[in-house]
Amino acid sequence: MKIHAATALLAGGWADDVLLAIDGAGFIEAVTPGVVDAPPECERLSDAVIPGMPNLHSHAFQRAMAGLTEARGPGEDSFWTWRRQMYAFVERLTPEQVQDIAAQLYVEMLQAGYSNVGEFHYLHHQADGSPYETRTEMSDRIIAAARETGIAVTHLPVLYTGNGFGGAPPEAGQRRFLNDSDAFAALVEDLIGRYRDDALVRIGIAPHSLRAVTREQLQHAVDAITRLDPMAPIHIHIAEQTREVEECIAWSGQRPVQWLLNSIDVDQRWCLVHATYANGAERKRLADGDAVVGLCPTTEANLGDGVFSANEFLADGGRIGIGSDSNVSVSAIEELRLLEYGQRLSHRLRALLASDESPSVGRYLYDVAVAGGAQALAQPVGALEVGRRADLVVLDGDAPALVCKSGDAILDSLVFAGNRDAVKHVMVAGRWRIRDGRHERGDVIFERYKHALAALLA
Ligand SMILES: [Zn+2]
Repeated sequence: MKIHAATALLAGGWADDVLLAIDGAGFIEAVTPGVVDAPPECERLSDAVIPGMPNLHSHAFQRAMAGLTEARGPGEDSFWTWRRQMYAFVERLTPEQVQDIAAQLYVEMLQAGYSNVGEFHYLHHQADGSPYETRTEMSDRIIAAARETGIAVTHLPVLYTGNGFGGAPPEAGQRRFLNDSDAFAALVEDLIGRYRDDALVRIGIAPHSLRAVTREQLQHAVDAITRLDPMAPIHIHIAEQTREVEECIAWSGQRPVQWLLNSIDVDQRWCLVHATYANGAERKRLADGDAVVGLCPTTEANLGDGVFSANEFLADGGRIGIGSDSNVSVSAIEELRLLEYGQRLSHRLRALLASDESPSVGRYLYDVAVAGGAQALAQPVGALEVGRRADLVVLDGDAPALVCKSGDAILDSLVFAGNRDAVKHVMVAGRWRIRDGRHERGDVIFERYKHALAALLA
């Protein structure tokens, strides 16, 4: 197929009258700017076309809890009291409900301009902790939801064995998450075998956090995935909370990021989610390396985590991507906006996440988040150029925030003044999944979601 865009953000920058040719596998096979007379067989788009945004960190089921954890409880409310509420919610979820919640969420992600999702998946077992007859049951549900909606998914089954540094025993609320190293390796191997032929499904691993795995388990999991797929992504929650940092120091004498970098070979496959409490030396080491830092600004704000020093990290050459994490918000625009605003509020300055070469904050943030997200999810996306998959977003030039804008002002307006109405069409792998803001299965999926939520909230 061919599409003709009035203006498009290509790998080399904005270009007008761009003809994009997309092959049968959904990859871009030619990009030709300056084609004033578009061939008759192509679809003409009068609006701006930009790359689809990867969402590198999601826990799908938590979407159904959004808005249900915002009332003050007894004592001080914190990440840790939220986590207790989340565990209580997890107790009740069935595989069907997980699939129905995930499908609704993925429609919303597509509508928000996300074309890929990294699903950090830890809900493996039945409510009493025993495995399902098919050990991949819950993973299969997540992937079925992604397939129904057409979003590309990097599925990251979580290794979770304990509740504290150094192998502390798990608590009852965690029993649906637990696997030993052998069971986990078998799960990952099953998933890689099962989805090998699906070009939109990538399997990686996610050792949950240094709170949840021992050094030996972590190394074993990394060795196992490396044997199966040497380029598979590896994600971990790393330093989200000050209590986590204090407990890590008490256990090892080192901070979490410091311990990880000193203990494991952290290469370009790695994504360190919530490196919120990486200190200056740790940020510098990360920036000098090849791993991506996964930032989830709306969830980090919602949970009262803190603010990652993204301005210093990016100035040092660090790589970042964004994630919707708890899915309290499903909006790439909100994540990027809050990322910059967190820096502004901390430093009492403006326009911090930008560079001399790329002074527009909207453009700079969009570029770095697309590139970092593509790397973290190990998907062949990240730019509109030959050889990459055709994941793209068509913005609505008639949205009030975007009207009469051109060049980088489009992305500045999108990030700081836009909303979901700014996203018009979304393509994944050469196929339109959102047209005029709607998904073709949106109504059916929403009915199933309502049914699941009604049962959960009864
Ligand atoms: Zn998370």
